[in-house]
Amino acid sequence: MKSMRLLAEGKPLVLTSVEIPSLTPHSAIVKVAAAGVCHTDIHLVSGAYDLGEGRKLSSTGGGSLLPLTPGHEIAGRVEDLGGEAMSSGFKKGDEVIVYPWIGCGRCRKCKSGKENLCEGASTFLGFGRDGGYAE
Ligand SMILES: [Zn+2]
Ligand SMILES: [Zn+2]
Repeated sequence: MKSMRLLAEGKPLVLTSVEIPSLTPHSAIVKVAAAGVCHTDIHLVSGAYDLGEGRKLSSTGGGSLLPLTPGHEIAGRVEDLGGEAMSSGFKKGDEVIVYPWIGCGRCRKCKSGKENLCEGASTFLGFGRDGGYAE
């Protein structure tokens, strides 16, 4: 599938061909219809978040997270569902907005449905994992 990837900090995204992600039992494949460009994506591409007063925080782990497909504001249509995801209430063809946070699934916050506040090893689409600037 086509994907706009960040290959190097501060450089334009590059149109690249990548494998379609593998379907796992608890996941879904979504055909992307649109993906927003957030200010966070701009910081990601530049290589650092501006914390003010001259302080910066690396947005790419000093480049160790690259190459990466940005995009965490994703809308699309469900193409396929893993076996365990069939009971989620979603079905093929549903129009969806993708929840980008991926928590550890074990901590107190994850168990209360707040993966965005995960206290463990968390990531989210478009940062630690490939995001929505793709088909
Ligand atoms: Zn955003
Ligand atoms: Zn967690």
